[in-house]
Amino acid sequence: MKKKITFILYFIAAALLVILAHNYITGRPSQDISYSEFKKLLKEKNVERLIVYENRIEGELTDDGIKSLAMMRGIQPDNKSIENIQKEHTFTTNRVEDPRLVDELDRLGVHYQSRSGYGWVMTVVSWIAPASILILAGFFFFRRIGFGSARSSLFVEKKSNVTFPDVAGLAVAEEELKEVIEFLRTPARFQNLGGRIPKGVLLVGPPGSGKTLLAQAVAGEANVPFFSITGSAFVEMFAGVGAARVRNLFARAEKKAPCIIFIDEIDAVGKARGGSDISGAEEHEQTLTQLLTEMDGFDAQKGVIMLAATNRPEILDQALLRPGRFDRHIVVDRPDLEGREQIFGIHSRNVRLAGDVDFKKLAASTPGMVGAEIANIVNEAALLAARRNKQAVEMSDFQEGIERVAAGLEKRNKLINPKEKEIVAYHEAGHAIVSLSLPNADPVHKISIIPRGISALGYTVHLPTEDRYLLTESELLDKIAVLLGGRISEEIIFGEVSTASQRDLEEATEIARSMVQTYGMSDKLGPLTFEKGRPLFLDTKYSPLKEYSEHTAMQLDEEVHNIVTRAYQKAREILMERRSDLDRVARVLMEKEVMDGSELEELLGN
Ligand code: ADP
Ligand code: MG
Ligand code: ZN
Repeated sequence: MKKKITFILYFIAAALLVILAHNYITGRPSQDISYSEFKKLLKEKNVERLIVYENRIEGELTDDGIKSLAMMRGIQPDNKSIENIQKEHTFTTNRVEDPRLVDELDRLGVHYQSRSGYGWVMTVVSWIAPASILILAGFFFFRRIGFGSARSSLFVEKKSNVTFPDVAGLAVAEEELKEVIEFLRTPARFQNLGGRIPKGVLLVGPPGSGKTLLAQAVAGEANVPFFSITGSAFVEMFAGVGAARVRNLFARAEKKAPCIIFIDEIDAVGKARGGSDISGAEEHEQTLTQLLTEMDGFDAQKGVIMLAATNRPEILDQALLRPGRFDRHIVVDRPDLEGREQIFGIHSRNVRLAGDVDFKKLAASTPGMVGAEIANIVNEAALLAARRNKQAVEMSDFQEGIERVAAGLEKRNKLINPKEKEIVAYHEAGHAIVSLSLPNADPVHKISIIPRGISALGYTVHLPTEDRYLLTESELLDKIAVLLGGRISEEIIFGEVSTASQRDLEEATEIARSMVQTYGMSDKLGPLTFEKGRPLFLDTKYSPLKEYSEHTAMQLDEEVHNIVTRAYQKAREILMERRSDLDRVARVLMEKEVMDGSELEELLGN
């Protein structure tokens, strides 16, 4: 702010100087003469073209007038010394009380005109107009290139007054952020212990799930300054400005440590380099490179923590996610039933509610909705109640609010309808029961029928490398069976399958293929590997290099098919046998939306 004012002052001063210089050159210079000199010259008829102001007279001297004036001032008007006297024709004199002046002018037949005393007003106006034009032009110019006034608005530095009580349904994410908050509160304690503090934390989740809110809450809880900037603000400017902004941001933040730098919608600046967009690609790369450089350069121990948010992690440049950069990822998921109930509560804090309002019921009828949508519903409900002149917002207003918001979402295909909910419940129950029944399958930690930001975003693909190469053949087979369990459950219950299994099938096929082609786990083809370095799980960048015959290729396909079919039969047997368990789990899921492993075991009595 201070910078801005200084800048404006400088600019005005410069503009005035320009105008003064302009006036000096083009304006008419004049010499001052005394009133008595004026009267004498007038009598000699040596003045002409008079302009009479209230307190001043301007006019021109004749050539004789110049000589006469020189004589009056004691200079000989011979041809030589006249060179030395003022040859200026224009003169100004201060007017003295002289009531008969006009009569005299008339009598002598001197041409004169009078102007009101607002001469100075005219002068000022004639300055102000061009000056304002200059200043305005300057503003627009500098604003465009992102300098001056715009520079201070490139990021917002503020104290956050959001805290965890303003956020609901994100307990897991909050828990993971506690360490960061502790560090920001007392950096010294952590520095003494020499612990490694994350430099960058990436919040990943669907739009409206509360990523921005959570980042603000971290700043509020830690009570530190919060520098926030949106990714697109980095890149929209002319060349070089984005990179300069990044530098500026880090320099400012370091002075304020401990503090938080928050880059919202980082995908705008952090999307993979060498992408398809040609315009501004270079600028974008410069900005991203600068961001990476700054992140590497700053010392996390000083107490600057970077937070970033995105709903499209898959398009981020991998370099951003490397260790020492945004290496910690926190999922900000859609809220579950209980979370939604709490969010209704938070957003109704300042709403007068009728006695019949039941947040539990409202939460139950908004599966899949995110916090932003719930906030929207409360808002709609309050507006509806106000329009009907009600004293308090009633349940019916909320229900109508839900319908309105849902209608908007349905258009965008974002809402789960009850039928879908049932399908997803049986699908997930299928995975869980197969998993529980197989000795080598991973234990079930959590089942949820809320569309997970993480899988909807294609984020679960990369599993920790430690696990990958330690898997045994039977573990892999059981994994395939578990993956198929979702689809088989749908088949058994509904007699047809949905698109819900696409990823499961991809993953299952991929595992089977790796078993045959990479790990030599096929009896038919023997312990041979057909591809080097084939990743076990999906990797979109992988394009196979075939080093085998067409005949072998057919055998490979056949073996992959065999493995998947065996796993399929195994899973189907399990689910047919435990059909009643399938119903029980699905019913609980439809009601509660989430179950953890222990609840599942309790329900099934394992
Ligand atoms: P995102 O950044 O993930 O797109 P925002 O944080 O901008 O979402 O959320 C928009 C608004 O929705 C918030 O300001 C808040 O009012 C509401 N909201 C979203 N998630 C939550 C939540 N978990 N708890 C409370 N309010 C929420
Ligand atoms: Mg946001
Ligand atoms: Zn599945």
